[in-house]
Amino acid sequence: MDIETVGIVGAGQMGNGIAHVMSLAGYDVMLNDISGEALAAAMATIDRNLERQVSRDKISAEDKSAALARIQTTQTLPDLGQTDLVIEAATERETVKQAIFEDLVPHLQPHTILTSNTSSISITRLASRTDRPEKFMGFHFMNPVPVMQLVELIRGIATDTETFEACATVVEKLGKTAATAEDFPAFIVNRILMPMINEAVYTLYEGVGSVKSIDSSMRLGANHPMGPLELADFIGLDTCLAIMNVLHDGLADTKYRPCPLLTKYVEAGWLGRKTQRGFYDYRGETPVPTR
Ligand code: NAD
Repeated sequence: MDIETVGIVGAGQMGNGIAHVMSLAGYDVMLNDISGEALAAAMATIDRNLERQVSRDKISAEDKSAALARIQTTQTLPDLGQTDLVIEAATERETVKQAIFEDLVPHLQPHTILTSNTSSISITRLASRTDRPEKFMGFHFMNPVPVMQLVELIRGIATDTETFEACATVVEKLGKTAATAEDFPAFIVNRILMPMINEAVYTLYEGVGSVKSIDSSMRLGANHPMGPLELADFIGLDTCLAIMNVLHDGLADTKYRPCPLLTKYVEAGWLGRKTQRGFYDYRGETPVPTR
């Protein structure tokens, strides 16, 4: 099937990146959020990031204005009913996602494919609460979306081949590379990445190293482009904690227990870059470690 219009639910760091790459690839985009402020911030971010691509000669000024013209924003979820593909990229909480699908389903066209950008929640379980489990799958982008090459495509138990292939074609049209993952907690990337980040937080919690020494150890000693705590701040500590909880609950192995220090940062509302404070404080000119 041909996909021309894409609905995106959630205009946070992932939603705005998805809207950016979709509109640049020629799709008409309807971007939804419950917060008008989030929508305004998303459009400002997309404008800024497209401008950066223009200044680096990656795209032309015409490409930028055409992409921006293809994005519409709305706070009304049923407005996404006329789209061919919906990508849900709201907060990583199952009840939030379920409520979105429940509200959206009565307004959808029969052919519309529903997907979630969830980092960890069961695709099969989310799908089973909709009227179209065969047209439901995981469409998992990496952060920052305009930069990262990979998209994980996750089939639920009921996902049909036509749906999978339609999504694989979209990934190709975006110029990205798909990796197929089975529907088990946190799929592939986060199954491997999050326990490493959680272990870095335990290393901090147990006083083995400071924020700075842990990050520089992994940057210079393991050749990672970012330290694990810096990366956690970039992803969002609430998202990291939510993923660890899904791994812990879903695989019932104590090796996935979230570090209490990670929980404490989230309780404090220190969620990383998006709230200007996490393992680093971003309120000044340069990030300052908070421990
Ligand atoms: P975020 O906190 O930046 O944005 C979430 C947005 O969802 C907010 O703007 C919020 O207002 C909106 N929202 C909440 N409830 C809503 C509702 N009922 N209807 C419409 N909008 C609603 O979070 P994010 O980092 O963009 O993550 C979004 C999703 O993407 C999560 O499922 C997360 O697991 C996944 N993800 C995140 C990353 C990452 O690195 N941050 C990477 C891959 C996937």
